[in-house]
Amino acid sequence: MPTLVQSLRQTSRELQALRAAEGLLGWDQETHMPPKGGVTRAESQAALSTVLHQRLTSDKLWALIGETGSQSDLSDREKALVRELRRDVEKARKIPEALASDLARTGSLSQQAWAKARERNAPSEFLPWLEKMVQLKRREAECLGYVESPYDALLDQFEPGSKASTIKPVLEKLRDGLTPLARRIVDASAGSATTSRSQQGGSIPIDVQRRFNERLLHDMGFDLEAGRLDSSAHPFTQGLSPGDVRLTTRYREEDWLTAIFSTLHEGGHGLYEQGLPDEDWGTPLAEAVSLSVHESQSRLWENRVGRSRAYWERYLPIAKEYFGAALDGVTVEDVLAQVNLVKPSLIRVEADEVTYNLHIVLRFQLEEALFSGALEVAGIPDAWNSGMEKLLGIRPTSAAEGFLQDVHWSCGLYGYFPTYTMGNLYAAQVCAAMEREMGSLDVKIRAGEFSVMREWLRNKIHRFGREFSAADLMHRATGEDLNPEYFLNYLEKKYL
Ligand code: MG
Repeated sequence: MPTLVQSLRQTSRELQALRAAEGLLGWDQETHMPPKGGVTRAESQAALSTVLHQRLTSDKLWALIGETGSQSDLSDREKALVRELRRDVEKARKIPEALASDLARTGSLSQQAWAKARERNAPSEFLPWLEKMVQLKRREAECLGYVESPYDALLDQFEPGSKASTIKPVLEKLRDGLTPLARRIVDASAGSATTSRSQQGGSIPIDVQRRFNERLLHDMGFDLEAGRLDSSAHPFTQGLSPGDVRLTTRYREEDWLTAIFSTLHEGGHGLYEQGLPDEDWGTPLAEAVSLSVHESQSRLWENRVGRSRAYWERYLPIAKEYFGAALDGVTVEDVLAQVNLVKPSLIRVEADEVTYNLHIVLRFQLEEALFSGALEVAGIPDAWNSGMEKLLGIRPTSAAEGFLQDVHWSCGLYGYFPTYTMGNLYAAQVCAAMEREMGSLDVKIRAGEFSVMREWLRNKIHRFGREFSAADLMHRATGEDLNPEYFLNYLEKKYL
């Protein structure tokens, strides 16, 4: 007879096997699926997600969790396994099936409407969909329950345990530090040569770029026998198991640097997925703990490593071996000027690492107002534009450059944006902790000694899965609670 814990693990593994199949269908849709496969693909995905929802919400699983949890001889990791499974199942059981399918269907249609509206710069075509999604998400928040604000129920889906009232002071502190800092950096660089993001180097075939990008992944410790790199319109990471992690990047023949930062970003996510404990695959003990911790891993490699002088002192000569004459005359200074230009801009995903977080502050303010009832959907376009003016000193002249720019709200991802900034903050805090223990990171980066960094991250963060809460895990890894000072210090030191 298997023990209760063994039965629970087995049931969890079956659920994860379905999720992995779902993930693979999604990955294929973004990378290889022929356009005409879309309709039947949606059918397959809907069928799988129905089976998953039924299994996840079954009374049998709920009873098994209860029985297993009532045993007195569980280890700490087993207790965490029960706690996290209970959390997932409890959430799923609170959402009526009709609401779940309404969210999925409306979300998919709304996302399509958003894509068209954005392309045509036609906000009025999207606003009715946005209204529907916000209504559905308000209902979802009511079903999930909350103590202080409905927005908390949504935040909790991406960053378990987080609340608007704890995120708000962190973001305000950051805003108050970043606004004058960005101004000082822009003033300091005015008149110097580095005031435009001119592209460095000539055109390079995508095939050649792919080989170089794979080289960078290999060097940072990403196992290409346990993962792969493809291309897609929007780069992402899909981890099916620690032995099968799919990354995508986005190539531009005319700008070889574009792909590199997407690759390093997704590579950071990929190292986390490969570093989860294989022996616990299929259980929450082998899942990433939260989006902010995930994002801390990607930002660390993309920004702290990839945008450093040390990195380009090492990799520009290697890039020249791969790319030949296309990089004739390109210097480390040229590359750094392109990848570290600080300048307020309208589009979040193209923002530099200083002003980026002000874009998040705006989205957080609007989301919080939407779900507290202080802002109606119809007021979003104006609130967006005046918020941009206040935070970044620039005003969008079109909705496509304004509130229509991000996909998130169209498909129901409310409460997701703050995890990007928390990821940036955690990344800086993690780097400071690493430096205290192993000395200068730049020395390691210049020497290509990435394996010590990867092992540190694996030991302190990756291998725990969801054993601890995100806040506890980061406290254990860095010795303190989330502290924006590390990030502000990093920027100040780097840019001034
Ligand atoms: Mg990311």
